[in-house]
Amino acid sequence: MTTQRPTGIDQPSGGTAAASARLFDRAQQVTPGGVNSPVRAFGSVGGTPRFMRSGSGATLTDVDGDSYVDLVGSWGPMILGHAHPAVLQAVSDAVARGLSFGTPGEGEVLLAEEIVRRVPPVQQVRLVSSGTEATMSAIRLARGFTGRSKIIKFAGCYHGHVDALLAAAGSGVATFALPGSAGVTEATAGDTIVVPYNDIDAVRAAFRAHPGEIAAVITEAAAANMGVVPPLPGFNAALAELAHGDGALLITDEVMTGFRVSASGMYGWERAAGDNPDPLPSNSTWAPDLMTFGKVIGGGLPVGAFGGRADIMALLSPGGPVYQAGTLSGNPIATAAGLANLRGSTDAVYAHLEAAAGTVSATVSQALTAAGVPHRVQAVGSLFSIFFGAAPAAAPVTNYDEAKAQDTKAFAAFFHSMLDQGVYLPPSAFEAWFVSAAHDDATLQRIAAAAPAAARAAAAAQSAG
Ligand SMILES: *Cc1c(COP(=O)(O)O)cnc(C)c1O
Repeated sequence: MTTQRPTGIDQPSGGTAAASARLFDRAQQVTPGGVNSPVRAFGSVGGTPRFMRSGSGATLTDVDGDSYVDLVGSWGPMILGHAHPAVLQAVSDAVARGLSFGTPGEGEVLLAEEIVRRVPPVQQVRLVSSGTEATMSAIRLARGFTGRSKIIKFAGCYHGHVDALLAAAGSGVATFALPGSAGVTEATAGDTIVVPYNDIDAVRAAFRAHPGEIAAVITEAAAANMGVVPPLPGFNAALAELAHGDGALLITDEVMTGFRVSASGMYGWERAAGDNPDPLPSNSTWAPDLMTFGKVIGGGLPVGAFGGRADIMALLSPGGPVYQAGTLSGNPIATAAGLANLRGSTDAVYAHLEAAAGTVSATVSQALTAAGVPHRVQAVGSLFSIFFGAAPAAAPVTNYDEAKAQDTKAFAAFFHSMLDQGVYLPPSAFEAWFVSAAHDDATLQRIAAAAPAAARAAAAAQSAG
């Protein structure tokens, strides 16, 4: 799909990062670690984080003027590519009408209607300003609805930096190998039961050990913050069955997968069993009770959402006793961006994303194989990641322990070689790779051209044994 071409940028270059280095020094004086979100600091791959100045289509340009093919996509929102004309137009139209009113407005109704239309289990939705806020509010609502306090979460699943959900989380927490986080009290962590992902027997055992105490099971609809680790066939359905059997709720976190892996997210993708090599059992009529969203629904501006069964959502303030609010919730600029992003995400876009992701992962995989680097590609729809190392190469990665067995040194060498050649990968082995509608053939060829040298760098850096 050629919705857009980078303007004035023909050659990826990588560059020396001198201006980025100067900014990083200044940033470290005034901001902890020099960044406002940990993974941006390049902590797990080393080197100088690139300070980006602009983005267009599939390309980012840094403050040194060097350009990169982007495979991060702002961690998911930029599904149409950077500075997409329709999204920019929607934003500038909204900006001209004023920035925020603290009253209801039409934009938030339109965005809510689009979400409800696309995802059947969401009968009502409340807009917030981040994915973290969405999961935090969904947990509070689940506790308010059930009158219970405990939560089951999965090791390696990341749900934002909600205190109760930071135990054994993935993403930046995985990258830095923290067991949880300082500052989270034992009382809070004590209400969180952490079990291995894809281990339904462990979930069953947790319900048996705490009957009538568990408010909700929260899971990434497909885990993608420890690398991409799809749910085993029937896993999500079994979670719904176990939770409902005990009077608990199932919350599927689709902040990353929502409107990314299909027009209706992982919920829709799992139901398109025709495309699924491991179709769910035919009795798959299960549905989550609550779902959370973010990333794509903001189009690059701060938007999150949680929604689900109307009888549960009715408990939220102002109608019900579960308090939840936000000065900038449903902001007119943010909802305009999100709506334009969703409306632009057509079936053709999803088909393009899957094809582009398939090309990138196959191209990189071939280069790694040619260089003798054992690895495994895992994917859900267009969301994929590549686990480096002998252990993941030998067997599929199904949980966090297996994800942690990957060769992060080989990944770091691969990352830096790609960066030097003008391809910007996620700066951590534990993150998914993101393509967009703007990743056209020329973009994919740049990646293909860079991959062999990066694969040889990875081969040279492989961890012994
Ligand atoms: C990114 C993410 C979050 C957190 O969203 P923020 O907007 O960063 O707070 C929550 N859950 C999942 C699955 C995510 O990928």
